[in-house]
Amino acid sequence: MRLSARIARIQPSITLAISAKAQRLAQAGHDIISFGIGEPDFDTPAHIKEAAILAIQRGASKYTAVAGIPELRAAAAAELSRTHGVTLTPEQIVVSTGAKQCLFNILTALLDDGDEVIVPTPCWPSHVELVRMAGGVAVLCPQRAQDGFALDPEAVARLITPRTRAVLLNSPSNPTGAVYSKESLLGLAEVIRRANNPELLIITDDLYRRLCYAPTQFASFAQLAPDLAARTILVDGVSKAYAMTGWRIGFCAAPLPLATAMQTIQGQVTTNATAVAQHAALAALLGDQAPVAAMVAEFDARRQLMYRTLMAVPGIVCKEPQGAFYCFPDFSAYLHAARGGRAPQDEVALCDYLLSEVGIACVPGSGFFAPGHLRFSYATSQQKIADGLARLSVGLSRLG
Ligand code: PLP
Repeated sequence: MRLSARIARIQPSITLAISAKAQRLAQAGHDIISFGIGEPDFDTPAHIKEAAILAIQRGASKYTAVAGIPELRAAAAAELSRTHGVTLTPEQIVVSTGAKQCLFNILTALLDDGDEVIVPTPCWPSHVELVRMAGGVAVLCPQRAQDGFALDPEAVARLITPRTRAVLLNSPSNPTGAVYSKESLLGLAEVIRRANNPELLIITDDLYRRLCYAPTQFASFAQLAPDLAARTILVDGVSKAYAMTGWRIGFCAAPLPLATAMQTIQGQVTTNATAVAQHAALAALLGDQAPVAAMVAEFDARRQLMYRTLMAVPGIVCKEPQGAFYCFPDFSAYLHAARGGRAPQDEVALCDYLLSEVGIACVPGSGFFAPGHLRFSYATSQQKIADGLARLSVGLSRLG
């Protein structure tokens, strides 16, 4: 069958082959410990589920306004205004089916064919694929592993051209766990001002912003560069912080013309995010935040356990993650180029080997534009982290 040229431009996820194999092995009765997962293992807090049940009982079963129920838009505007120290109105908020659809809407509304978006890497693969789906060109801007993948504003500056429409930031980062410092964001603001192009925008994917571990704090680009706030688009949501990945609610704050264009797109694609899930997200934003604090504390304990354990394995190089729930170590020392013999050719082969040999699943870094690395999610119990990383040591020692 002839498929569109557009679909031919999109890469299928490199992680799919590994996760499909992990699933097959688990279904066949093998004991697999998964570090591949990109979602909290916690249940959605009880008060959020109860709000959804109440909403169903009260008849939240109709279409809503395309941009979302007014209460949620107001709550999101208030929450984002507080977080970023800016003044946002509910009219600037568009609620969508996950942060992913926010990004789809933004990029589709902004990009003409060939327009460029600078994406610091390593990055979440969908950032690149969504730019491509919208007809744009994702211009990758590699950040240095030895600097813990900190944002290098001058590296971004070197890639700005007259076709650059946006820089797409993600802090805390999936996959590196890096949290961008105030200094680097101030540096980036200078770079944007210097570019002297009012059509150059900043998109910040802040989905993991609540998952920062002391003493690291989330730094907001919009807050640090108030003069650029009108050119800053905020992507946020409830998926990661409230353990609500399956509810599919994200929201975005954008300048009014863009917010209107996003509604035009969404109105033709999905209409509104699921009504019941919007009520659940409202309860998440307005309700008790103690469950979030408890999840963050547990993630932090897991982070420290995973990081300490990985650092004790000879040859692995890893910067301490400061946010999100991923470690992103460099395993180059275990690959053929460094080791020779029967060592795996690349990180995809190493993942495959670890899965077959010792039953642990992780994600190859090439999927995030960082060959040589593997992503380990610590959104799993401390017991599984300890057991799985003990298996990792065994598997690596068998490489000779
Ligand atoms: N942004 C980043 C950086 C992510 O890692 C993810 C999910 O993994 C998303 C956005 C998508 O979020 P949602 O599940 O709300 O669509």
